[in-house]
Amino acid sequence: MNLDIISIGDELLIGQTLNTNAHWISKQMNAVGFVVREQVSIADTEEAILTAVENSLGKSTVVLITGGLGPTKDDLTMPTLNKYFGGKLVRDEGVYQHIEQIITSRGYVMNKNNQDQAMVPDNCKVIHNENGTAPGLWFEKDGKVVVAMPGVPYETKAIITDTVIPLLKAKYELPEIINQMVYTQGVPESMLAELLTDWEDNLPSAIKLAYLPSPGRVKLRMSSVGKDRQQMQVAIDEQIEKLKQIIPDNVYSEDNEDLGELIGKLLREQGKTLATAESCTGGYIAHLITRVAGSSDYYKGSVVSYANEIKINALGVNAADIEQYGAVSQLVVEQMVLGVQKNMQTDYAIATSGVAGPTGGSVEKPVGTVWIALATPDGIISKKYQFGKLREVNIERAAMAALGMLRGWFLLTLLYVMCV
Ligand code: ATP
Ligand code: MG
Repeated sequence: MNLDIISIGDELLIGQTLNTNAHWISKQMNAVGFVVREQVSIADTEEAILTAVENSLGKSTVVLITGGLGPTKDDLTMPTLNKYFGGKLVRDEGVYQHIEQIITSRGYVMNKNNQDQAMVPDNCKVIHNENGTAPGLWFEKDGKVVVAMPGVPYETKAIITDTVIPLLKAKYELPEIINQMVYTQGVPESMLAELLTDWEDNLPSAIKLAYLPSPGRVKLRMSSVGKDRQQMQVAIDEQIEKLKQIIPDNVYSEDNEDLGELIGKLLREQGKTLATAESCTGGYIAHLITRVAGSSDYYKGSVVSYANEIKINALGVNAADIEQYGAVSQLVVEQMVLGVQKNMQTDYAIATSGVAGPTGGSVEKPVGTVWIALATPDGIISKKYQFGKLREVNIERAAMAALGMLRGWFLLTLLYVMCV
């Protein structure tokens, strides 16, 4: 069953407001079982509203509209929908009292704008707006539904959760939709697609696959629409098991994208601690770890050793080695990681040193060259990566690779424990 979302507001079109409503509503409606056919953003004009509603009703069963429901002259949604559905505006006592209560509780006296907001079309169901003055409006025509809601995100969220979703569920028989994510790391999208060709070709037709790349990670989304949720989940789980056999080292989660959280969980489970020494990532790894509540239990701290003298003075890196091999080198990154592990007395440590760009590259070490070292209780691992040209992306990819190295280590030790 198709659903359209129309977002009304000039502020969306001039780039002043990010259309978070359409994003949030799509997610909710997908979870409920609708197929979101289209999202459109339009201007605050009668013509744009009429055209969009007419167009959407031609192709979708449900149309959800936000914005332009307020009491000011630029808010045209209510009069326009009233015209479209051929109703007349009448005063709604419940809405009037709710507005009056809000206005007087704030110490104001009801003015004409406030009073006008209680005038609603006589051919729609009025939806109570707990958090604001503009009510939601539910219109029906030929088995189709059009709902208009305020632009203010928190008002609309409550209206949708409390009223619109229950009403839609009661009115329509909706299918089950599963969007199962699988989070992978360490293989670029094009390589991953190659590795997974056979698996992908043999997926049951009911399961649709999508690749969603971001720096250092690729999300796989497996979607299925049907009647029996449990059966659909079993079919998806079977495929995930097969997938994990093809890329055992690269799948890192099926329910949580956050590598910082995952690393935290692993450290906590094993009662181990971590420190970082960051050059090119500039504290970004520390941020990814410390934004997780409770991270002080396993994370001791970071030395953002951006300048060479900090690498030397705070981490004990040998000045002559920097001179001879450069700060972006295996020897230096290994000394950094050992230095921070020793100084902070942790079980594990991570160090990064690289050329984030856009300047600073050379023929030998072009922009995007990053050395990452991991110190463990059993020794050091270090690896050179060659990322791209974009500074921010390089920082993100380096951080992901560093956390991935630690995750990979845990995976290995876990396998080892299982084998002996
Ligand atoms: P109000 O009663 O506040 O006037 P309204 O229905 O008229 O409500 P708008 O005037 O269109 O809503 O927008 C109110 C606020 O909500 C503005 O700050 C606007 O930036 C924000 N807003 C509107 N549409 C969206 C949207 N699609 N996504 C996120 N924010 C939005
Ligand atoms: Mg408004």
